[in-house]
Amino acid sequence: MLANKKALVTGASRGIGKAITVRFLAEGAEVWGIGTREPADLAEQCAASGGNLHWHNADLGNVDTLEATIENLISASGGFDILVNNAGITRDNLSLRMPLEDFQKVLDINLTAAFLVARTVGRAMIRKRAGSIINMASVVGMHGNGGQANYAASKAGLIAITKSLAAELASRDVRVNAIAPGFIATDMTAAMTSEAKEKIAQAIPLKRLGKPEDIAALAHFIASDESTYITGQVIPVDGGMFF
Ligand code: NAP
Repeated sequence: MLANKKALVTGASRGIGKAITVRFLAEGAEVWGIGTREPADLAEQCAASGGNLHWHNADLGNVDTLEATIENLISASGGFDILVNNAGITRDNLSLRMPLEDFQKVLDINLTAAFLVARTVGRAMIRKRAGSIINMASVVGMHGNGGQANYAASKAGLIAITKSLAAELASRDVRVNAIAPGFIATDMTAAMTSEAKEKIAQAIPLKRLGKPEDIAALAHFIASDESTYITGQVIPVDGGMFF
């Protein structure tokens, strides 16, 4: 349960972030969602279930103004108990052909923006001496992946930030962990052909791609008071791809 908890979720409009938002609302949390636009179905779903969702349109690529944006949300909410740094993008290409712009864009959104959001929220959490920060990494950040040097670097960096921030904030009872999803069926993986997806599924011990709800279940656990002795960890949710 997340009753009386306030959560900030980036990239809440679709896929994994949306599943986490829906799960947190169902567990009784008040959720502030960020994305470039609020999807109508999420607003309708919340209105129907009585969930307490506050939406904020923001482009996390605006790194110069991002900390001020987050500070405003902290003031408006009264402070967050939970942060899920979930927003992320891909710009896949072979390294030898990758435009610098595509390398930089992925680093800006997946790494720099996540760092700025985490430290701004973390600063407020240490004053309350409580909080759980969850960074959405990837198994690719642990193992690399052909065609994803930019994305893999961003997720490896996010794992390093997770451990560094966990060390810095632990004495104030603020926990920082990362989830490392494997292949999850969302818009991010939708462009793959069904043959490619089937091939991947056959290589996964549990023989299927993950669902956003598989990630939301772990996010709920890490966000909750059931996990208050867990920090600095990177937890894969990958159907056994890399055990
Ligand atoms: P998705 O369906 O493509 O959704 C991405 C989310 O990020 C959307 O809500 C999007 O908002 C938001 N976002 C992207 N750029 C943004 C920006 N500049 N400003 C604000 N919001 C922005 O992706 P997903 O599969 O759910 O992935 C969620 C996270 O899990 C990502 O960090 C991803 O790297 C990670 N992950 C995914 C997989 C997978 O297989 N799917 C595997 C490992 C890790 P808009 O709707 O406004 O664009």
